[in-house]
Amino acid sequence: MNEIRMVDLKGQYDKIKSEIDSAIHQVIDSTAFINGPAVQDFQKALEEYLGVKHVIPCANGTAALQVAMMGLHMQPGDEVITTSFTFIATAEVIALLGLTPVLVDVDPDTFNIDPEAIRKAITPKTKAIVPVHLFGQAADMEAIMQIAQEHNLYVIEDTCQAIGAKFTFSDGTTRQAGTIGHASGMSFFPSKNLGCYGDGGAIFTNDDTLAQQLRVVVNHGMVVRYYHDYVGVNSRLDSIQAAVLKVKLGYLDQYIKARRKAAAFYDKAFANHPKLKTRVTAPFTTHVYHQYTLVTKDMDRDALQKFLASKNIPAMIYYPVPMHMQKAYQDPRYKEGDFPVTEHLSKHVISLPMHTELDEEQLKYITDAVLEFANR
Ligand SMILES: *Cc1c(COP(=O)(O)O)cnc(C)c1O
Repeated sequence: MNEIRMVDLKGQYDKIKSEIDSAIHQVIDSTAFINGPAVQDFQKALEEYLGVKHVIPCANGTAALQVAMMGLHMQPGDEVITTSFTFIATAEVIALLGLTPVLVDVDPDTFNIDPEAIRKAITPKTKAIVPVHLFGQAADMEAIMQIAQEHNLYVIEDTCQAIGAKFTFSDGTTRQAGTIGHASGMSFFPSKNLGCYGDGGAIFTNDDTLAQQLRVVVNHGMVVRYYHDYVGVNSRLDSIQAAVLKVKLGYLDQYIKARRKAAAFYDKAFANHPKLKTRVTAPFTTHVYHQYTLVTKDMDRDALQKFLASKNIPAMIYYPVPMHMQKAYQDPRYKEGDFPVTEHLSKHVISLPMHTELDEEQLKYITDAVLEFANR
């Protein structure tokens, strides 16, 4: 059996090596390393794939979220509602810009932000909502957009984990996750579902005016060369990464299928187990399985992780510490017990290996090991 990895980027690369290598060499031959044609090619291909008007490439997913907030002219003191159960980057950029993060709890079945909790957290200072499409399924965007409209708020989707997930509205229309809010931040970090071979990111928007503003922000606030109308940042996707991404975008649907196949194998093995709760996919979204995450019950989750490690099966805890319990984000407004669902999840979740290269032999070995531990 091949070694089991949390993410198998080498196995994935081996299958498309000649295409990737030639795309990278083309960029090197052209020496158009920054903003070369490869970046525009990828941008157009991604706009088409997503059915979104504008993709603005940038340096990474964290920058994408920051740039989106800067492009929307959010001001220090503005409150931004987001989830307590996410990767730190979401809250980090809010804090960096001097905005006030307002945390709310998540739904216990989907781990995504709870629209009712958003409603309760709105104050006159609220400016935006940042839903995170955690682990690969979309948050309840219809409810969130409705709330945003009622209260005149911006919605900035954190799509870093969910490219390719599709959201269906109650009228039957379907949109890609990341193309519903006013703007959306995307990461092409290597282990993400569409990952490059370094850092990369993008902002998505359907708003022409905002898109123009975002292109100014990522380029030092420069409107006309060397005339800087805004304080911006330097945030670019380099051409080599864009070339890699353009090749991999062609395989994204295939990659999603492979992840779903692995998830279906896991689901079947753990179905109805009293100690292993598989995550529910909400009816309004498809799932692209950035992570496959179980919620353990009546068992020592950390002992399970150690047991799996002893069998050479990596497993990760995403995320062990809720946002409001992080040392850097201590805030007198929040204390332990404020977000019971998030706190429960951080103590009981475990994510199993999930990538495009898992084979049945590996999946059987993993599920057998998890069940062996759960059944003792
Ligand atoms: C990965 C990730 C980010 C940050 O992306 P980077 O490219 O690593 O900066 C932000 N939010 C979520 C939910 C992520 O998973």
